[in-house]
Amino acid sequence: MDKSVFDRGCRACPRLAAFLDEVQEKHEDYYCRPVPPFGDAEARLLIVGLAPGMHGANRTGRPFTGDHAGILLYQMLHKFGFASHDESLAADDDLVLTQCRITNAVKCLPPDNKPVGAEINTCNDFLANELRLLPAASVVLALGGIAHRAVIKALAMRQADFKFGHATIHDLGDVKLLDSYHCSRYNTNTRRLTPEMFEGVFVQAQTLLRE
Ligand code: SF4
Repeated sequence: MDKSVFDRGCRACPRLAAFLDEVQEKHEDYYCRPVPPFGDAEARLLIVGLAPGMHGANRTGRPFTGDHAGILLYQMLHKFGFASHDESLAADDDLVLTQCRITNAVKCLPPDNKPVGAEINTCNDFLANELRLLPAASVVLALGGIAHRAVIKALAMRQADFKFGHATIHDLGDVKLLDSYHCSRYNTNTRRLTPEMFEGVFVQAQTLLRE
């Protein structure tokens, strides 16, 4: 993979690198590295999550794979024709994404799922490069406010001009940014994000891609 977009050996965030080492000691079979983007390199739909989950992406090495956060996401991707299957089990299963790619604003597992500002900023260069490589008329689906702000920052735009809002579409010139609440266990269990709401966001994404 293009090193400007992802570096498996990156340890630029000392706190995260140390935390990955610590987790690796406890869980020898876990991936415990920066997690690469997954999907179609030519995709016009880029989904941006927050960061790998401890027992999900950090364990398997694929975004939203192996824990609760990916269940609804891959179901929707399959329903809307972006994924060959409705679940992502492991980095070496035969799941294929078409016209869609998933990445994270922060590529390494943060303690308590909370990256600090400096880590979001340091990893933002990778995201900026990934956004730069998107084809014309692409759609970026940001899952949650942190992902939304990371995208705005990566495109060097003013945060004050583009506030996060579920199901809100922001015209960023070359790309359209679509916001959704994150499909985390917490948000789905509390019904802050219902399957119907998430499906509605995918309808919006599909409509934008067809415009
Ligand atoms: S979060 Fe990003 S910038 Fe920081 S160490 Fe991981 S890959 Fe590198």
